[in-house]
Amino acid sequence: MYSFTQDGDKFVVSIDNHQELAGAIAAFCKEQGILAGEISGIGAVNTATLRFLDPGTKRYVDKTFDEQMEISSLVGNISEKDGNVYLHLHANFGRRDYTVIGGHLLCATINGACELVVTRFHCKMGRHFDEETGLNLYTL
Ligand code: FE
Repeated sequence: MYSFTQDGDKFVVSIDNHQELAGAIAAFCKEQGILAGEISGIGAVNTATLRFLDPGTKRYVDKTFDEQMEISSLVGNISEKDGNVYLHLHANFGRRDYTVIGGHLLCATINGACELVVTRFHCKMGRHFDEETGLNLYTL
């Protein structure tokens, strides 16, 4: 699913072609016991589903883009909710015409490569559901 090398608390990760990105990151964090940290990455995908939270209705609106796109910027954090890895990922995707779409990333399928740096933190980064915003906010 991936290969990686490690330099202290930093992991350089290559996710295999055709893997689902969010699932592969979650598997990596679980297997390495990383429950707090941050992620950055670049690569390419051929489908991605983004999520927009409407603050007025607190409803999620999901949209899938089925096209070849560059991951021009993947950023996110790793925390812990109910004892499990909890990922919060945002991404910008560059299209064939060089325009960019972006937002909260639900899932995407690698088509080409995906190169990540994962930094492990040693603090506790928890999550709890917040009624007012409808979000799983940090418990720090
Ligand atoms: Fe988000």
